[in-house]
Amino acid sequence: MSVRVRFAPSPTGALHIGGVRTALYNYLFAKKHKGAFILRIEDTDQNRFVAGAENYIEQALEWAGVSPDEGVNAGGDFGPYKQSERKDLYKQFADQLLAEGKAYYAFDSSEELDEMRERLKEARVANPQYNAITRMQMVNSLTLSDEEVKERIERGDDYVIRIKLPRNEDVRFKDLVRDWVVVNTATMDDKVLLKSDGMPTYHLANIVDDHMMEISHVIRGEEWLPSAPLHVLLYEYLGWEKPEFAHLPLLLKPDGNGKLSKRAADKLGFPIFPLNWNDPVSGELSKGFKEEGYLSDAFINFLAFLGWNPGGEEEIFSMDELIDAFTIERINKAGARFDIEKAKWFNEQYLRTKPDEELAEAYSSLYDQPIEKSKSLAIVAALKERVTFVQDIKVAGSFFFESPKEFDEKTTRKKWNEFAVEKLKGFSAELAPLNEVSKEEVKEIFMAYLATDETPLGKVMPALRLALTGQGGGPDLMAIMSILGPKEVVDRINKAIQALA
Ligand code: GLU
Repeated sequence: MSVRVRFAPSPTGALHIGGVRTALYNYLFAKKHKGAFILRIEDTDQNRFVAGAENYIEQALEWAGVSPDEGVNAGGDFGPYKQSERKDLYKQFADQLLAEGKAYYAFDSSEELDEMRERLKEARVANPQYNAITRMQMVNSLTLSDEEVKERIERGDDYVIRIKLPRNEDVRFKDLVRDWVVVNTATMDDKVLLKSDGMPTYHLANIVDDHMMEISHVIRGEEWLPSAPLHVLLYEYLGWEKPEFAHLPLLLKPDGNGKLSKRAADKLGFPIFPLNWNDPVSGELSKGFKEEGYLSDAFINFLAFLGWNPGGEEEIFSMDELIDAFTIERINKAGARFDIEKAKWFNEQYLRTKPDEELAEAYSSLYDQPIEKSKSLAIVAALKERVTFVQDIKVAGSFFFESPKEFDEKTTRKKWNEFAVEKLKGFSAELAPLNEVSKEEVKEIFMAYLATDETPLGKVMPALRLALTGQGGGPDLMAIMSILGPKEVVDRINKAIQALA
């Protein structure tokens, strides 16, 4: 059997990072088994539709490098890939279930439903349901005569179609992550399959589509686990073979206490969406991982390890390596704590391995005026080992563009003295006639100068760094001097001598 998996988001807002992880695991599994990764848009709930969300989902997946093989834009033989365009299909299966007595019409108004729940609550029923017991007191095709049902439908009364669950039966299935799941139908609800607007509910549409699209494995978030027994029953009722199920562990807040929500992420000051999201309803702008400076391959590596690990010590995995290593068996049952520090760590590792050319381009684009290529290349090479994000290079390297106004107090106190100043003056004199120097050349000049009277490096270097950058530490000083150029170095030494006199 060929592997066909789907990511099936509802376009109700921005894609949460948990959704991206679900998409990623589906993608890895599909690629590993040379199968297909499908993007299906589940937009049957018209009330929750949010403009721009579908487009956002497509763009986020593309940025993350998990583009679908089949979908609204990708095309494919199993379309349409948007549920609102498949509306007619679902009704036919709801009708089939009705005809076979596995579903029924229900005409209850929302007041009647509320009343029923109230009644059950008063009778201390823990979990008020529309089920085998209560359904016989409600207004539906099981309690009304055939004529009355017909009449109500003909005169246009609102109705829904509900699944008719067995009264007391264990539904069992084996989840690939959670192992055996057993739920008794006495605890379940006769869920609505088709709504009064003729649209299917998530449950019906999801099962029909997974079947018609020949989905082999349903890999989705744990929040859907409670729906899975109903889905299993629906497959049985429709006489279809069910797919394999794998329910992924929740993403938890950093302290492990509860689900990682947007609110929690906002409070802790890190993004929850892959890309910037401009909420069309509230007007609120939420920053994305991309815009915060995360590299997509670092983001993916980080995400892959939230709830899965390949075993062993190695943590840096390219997409191809992830595909190779990925197995459902190694997905954890326990919730995955979200750790933004780990995300930063991954970004640092990836940033360091990026070619200078690529980083220089990204770095240069942060300025209104483009920076000379050789300069931006030298700056990123000097700083990439020391930062988390490309934009940090701009901050950490601001001294490349303006001479220091302030000088680190501790370094000044400990390392700035008459002897150092004399040496800096002497070194300035060596540099003054030069127009440019490589870091190797300037190193040679500096070392040769100190060697004339065997001055130890530590007596001058910190003062020189202080004069050039105002700081006590930083990137390779020779690289700094080469980037600034001899004239600027001399100028800054003079300015520092004046400022610190
Ligand atoms: N439309 C559901 C969602 O928004 C899909 C759940 C599933 O994968 O079955 O996540």
